[in-house]
Amino acid sequence: MVDPIPALLTRTSLLEVMARYGLEPHRTLGQNFVVDQNTIRKIVRLAGVESGDAVVEIGPGLGSLTLGLLEAGAEVTAVEIDRRLIEPLTEITGGRARILAADAMEVDWSTVVGDRPHTVVANLPYNVATPVVLRLLDEAPQVTRMLVMVQREVGERLAAGPGSKAYGIPSVKVGYWATARLVGTVGAEVFHPQPRVTSALVEIVRREHPVHAVDPVVLFDLVRAGFGQRRKTLRRALGDRVTDAQLEAAEIDGRRRAEELDVAEWCRLTEAVSPLR
Ligand code: SAM
Repeated sequence: MVDPIPALLTRTSLLEVMARYGLEPHRTLGQNFVVDQNTIRKIVRLAGVESGDAVVEIGPGLGSLTLGLLEAGAEVTAVEIDRRLIEPLTEITGGRARILAADAMEVDWSTVVGDRPHTVVANLPYNVATPVVLRLLDEAPQVTRMLVMVQREVGERLAAGPGSKAYGIPSVKVGYWATARLVGTVGAEVFHPQPRVTSALVEIVRREHPVHAVDPVVLFDLVRAGFGQRRKTLRRALGDRVTDAQLEAAEIDGRRRAEELDVAEWCRLTEAVSPLR
């Protein structure tokens, strides 16, 4: 007989479901499932999810976080790539979540979220965490907030500011669309199986308007070129893209390096190179 729908998954109930469906976690899909109820409730609380909120969960796995979101009264759409998990997930969530079997790197976000503002809450697979976050910021303006659990180093890069070692291309990309901050860390012991790394919780809140309206394609091309040679001065790293006169117009000293420029300065440089109008 199938057990009644659990409130939240525990290690015992997760192992029971895995055994019943003959499932082994796929390491290549980053399948480390959360089995600690306090961690789940903390993530849901930090996400600020309230009853009736529309939430997208990426990689629901066997429903650890999905159940926490449902407990808070969210309307959950969950996007899971591993088709083996769809049936157990549907059983565990009692059909209360909308479950889509799709790749978060390829799915058309506008059809997933429609016109309604959504919060993304996810324990992201390590190998696609950064591109998934950047893709959502780029392509899904309906996603206004995110609370994501990622590998700590990835979280530090997403939330870093200029001058820090972690500051790089993802930091500027996130900073263009949103503000990001680390709001917690999570130890390996809350997962099954346990990963070798510590995880971080990152809150990302989309800006109402970008720092400066510039052409993001030009901006991100400059950022890639600048950080591609991060030890060089901007004058040298961007020599084939930016003239001295453009650096001067942007009031940026060409002897500085990519890692020293904040998002507003990157935007000024973009505007000098390729004015919008
Ligand atoms: N949310 C569950 C939890 O917290 O226990 C599982 C999290 S587990 C770290 C990552 C999940 O993302 C797995 O279920 C994996 O199959 C799924 N996944 C991996 N790559 C994906 C992709 N490209 N699109 C959608 N889901 C993906």
